[in-house]
Amino acid sequence: MPYDYDDQNVFAKILRGEIPSKPIYESGHAIAFPDITPQKKHHILVIPKGPYRCYDHFVQSASDEEQLDFFRAVGAVAKQLGLSEAHGGNGYRLITNSGRDSHQEVPHFHVHLLGGEPVGPLTAS
Ligand code: AMP
Repeated sequence: MPYDYDDQNVFAKILRGEIPSKPIYESGHAIAFPDITPQKKHHILVIPKGPYRCYDHFVQSASDEEQLDFFRAVGAVAKQLGLSEAHGGNGYRLITNSGRDSHQEVPHFHVHLLGGEPVGPLTAS
């Protein structure tokens, strides 16, 4: 089934500058900004600039260049925030919700990066 993309979602509006955000990182194909409802000390959303609905859509449809740039952006944000163990930090958690069972609220692919304090067990029922 092909993926549709609703360009009225909140992250599409952020990318077009129609809703304010304060990016902490930008690359050729990605931006990162704080979640409006932070769940941990650091709660950053990393999103591709392209119109992809979810992880599935992104890995099936984005170019290799976009995918490489995006996943490097995630690592760069972790490093920038001092969370990367490779750079002396205590680590972090990445979460992405994809599809009906996942409770994805915003239909533009994004990775949540959580850290700066212990993030607890993986799942909540
Ligand atoms: P998900 O449930 O994985 O789709 O997560 C969507 C996330 O987007 C939630 O954690 C929201 O708090 C966050 N969010 C919604 N609107 C905004 C906004 N305008 N700026 C930053 N984060 C937002």
